[in-house]
Amino acid sequence: MRILLVEDDCLLGDGIKTGLKHFSYAVDWVKKGSHALQALSTDVFELVILDLGLPDMDGIELMSQIRKAAISTPVLILTARDQLEDKLSGLNAGADDYMVKPFDLRELEARIRALVRRNHGHSDDLVELGQLSLNLSAHQASYQSRVLKLSRREFQLLRVLVENKNRVLSRAQLEQMAYGWDDEIESNAVEVHIHNLRKKMINTQAIKTIRGVGYMLDTQALL
Ligand code: CA
Repeated sequence: MRILLVEDDCLLGDGIKTGLKHFSYAVDWVKKGSHALQALSTDVFELVILDLGLPDMDGIELMSQIRKAAISTPVLILTARDQLEDKLSGLNAGADDYMVKPFDLRELEARIRALVRRNHGHSDDLVELGQLSLNLSAHQASYQSRVLKLSRREFQLLRVLVENKNRVLSRAQLEQMAYGWDDEIESNAVEVHIHNLRKKMINTQAIKTIRGVGYMLDTQALL
């Protein structure tokens, strides 16, 4: 799952990026508001973490610009304790949640999960499609009651397929949605991961190859 982090504080930014990576998130980090707008116009993110004190632009102003551009990605704002008033302006400008610095990384992760879950209409961390189930907090997948031993990238890919079930996604779309800028993607990575997912599930029908177009998770084949 890709997250855009907008934070000019190097120490904090690095801490969040490294910390969230342990929870299997792909975090793309920019330090300026203008770079955030650029990234949001070209890439697909599941969530934005936005610091309100940015060097080139006021975070609240950026928040308004994001919503004015009709980008509905959930936004979690970060604010310092003495800027607590800003949280209200941020929420009024269209943010979905906020956290006051300093915060516990585990709490940040739990809130990210809650926001993304709400955005996808899940009521809890367990997503079940036929005999496939995905535990979004434990980052674990099982099929036919067997836990699948998946790599971080395989899990990320499966998650994107599940969230876009019965929809054909091109290889480029899958790469965009599942991996961040730092994830070096081999040209055949998606094919290899899909091959592995089919093998680990012992089901070659669930993830269909639509020739010349892309891939699709077929929920009928999971029953
Ligand atoms: Ca700042």
